[in-house]
Amino acid sequence: MPSTILVTGGSGLVGQAIKAYTDANALEGETWIFLSSKDGDLRKRDETDAIFDRYKPTHVIHLAAKVGGLFANLKQKVGRFRVLFLRRGDRHRRRTSDRSLFGNGKGESKLTKMNNPTFFLGLVADRPPSRAHRPATSHLYYYTSPSPFVEFYRENTLINDNIMENCRLHNVAKLVSMLSTCIFPDKTTYPIDETMLHDGPPHPSNEGYAYAKRLIDTMNRAYAEEYGCNFTSIIPTNIYGPHDNFSIENGHVIPGLIHKCYKARRDGTPFTIWGTGSPLRQFIYSLDLAELTVWVMREYHSPDPITLSVDEDAEVSIRDVALAVARAMKFDGEVVFDSTKADGQFKKTASNKKLRGLRPDYKFTTMEEGVQRAVDWFLENYESARK
Ligand code: NDP
Repeated sequence: MPSTILVTGGSGLVGQAIKAYTDANALEGETWIFLSSKDGDLRKRDETDAIFDRYKPTHVIHLAAKVGGLFANLKQKVGRFRVLFLRRGDRHRRRTSDRSLFGNGKGESKLTKMNNPTFFLGLVADRPPSRAHRPATSHLYYYTSPSPFVEFYRENTLINDNIMENCRLHNVAKLVSMLSTCIFPDKTTYPIDETMLHDGPPHPSNEGYAYAKRLIDTMNRAYAEEYGCNFTSIIPTNIYGPHDNFSIENGHVIPGLIHKCYKARRDGTPFTIWGTGSPLRQFIYSLDLAELTVWVMREYHSPDPITLSVDEDAEVSIRDVALAVARAMKFDGEVVFDSTKADGQFKKTASNKKLRGLRPDYKFTTMEEGVQRAVDWFLENYESARK
């Protein structure tokens, strides 16, 4: 049967990896369409409708989202709530309102200047972080009243709703949407698995994004029950590879490190990594994720999500990743870990037992090899890369 597969977010990191994979591995009769925001703003219902009317997809892989790393999340939240970041030894008091945080009291104004409130100040939490989430440094995290992260929630919810409803109306045979391990409960036990998604509130730094993504899972089951739709979702861990967003401020860990290391090599300065380097993460190379996503579209038929991740023993520290980046970049200068910057969650180990039950022999690209390919791509595409 001929099929038309629409990939939303087709110009992004994962979309371009799926393109590279399907350029070489499309089945007979498959037509792959890769969308970017230039094809239409998926937050808008009429523009989404027009895309579905035009392409009449039989399958949809839904990647488009308003995304951002820890610092992008904090930046917006800090801009809105002005959270103070205090170091042990600084004079501090718990503050509950914006007004009391700034311009009130000499100690606070000094701290405000010292810590540069326009950018990074600290993690936002409705209570002090537990020992597990406190980095092994002398940081204290203080906060104002927590509040929903309006933009991340609304934009993602609008996009997801427009896609799902159009898939129902157009009788799309299969919809695969992307969740993320960073939307799991903040306080949880490890390893996390697919059944634990809704077991508690997400980390306060990305609440809006997390709740919008969690609703995809809820709605997948609702669409299956009410309309018999074949919608599912996949849960990747941190992704990296060609076509990533290499912005140091707004990108994710590996692309941010690659760009920083590039600058350090170019300018003869130290390669400075934000945080202590101790948090642990699982990273999946984008081409591996692409291959597994296409497999899910073709072979995995359940509304319940499936985690697409490297094995638990392939979890690495940010320090290890940074050193792999330095090696791939052939950087031989000084490597510094700036422990005055936030670490984020200490770990979020995910179990890939479900995937291994179905794909026991799948071979993931090693971190060393994947980082080398991502670095090579960045060097070859420096002018045009998102950064
Ligand atoms: P990118 O930021 O690389 O790409 C985002 C894509 O979404 C782009 O194609 C962008 O189009 C498109 N897009 C964004 N907003 C709109 C909009 N309003 N209308 C239409 N298109 C839009 O994302 P990734 O490839 O990194 O992520 C893909 C998915 O994977 C996302 O759902 C993300 O949440 C999830 N994910 C990503 C992780 C990661 O480490 N990167 C980790 C876990 C999950 P344009 O290029 O035109 O702006």
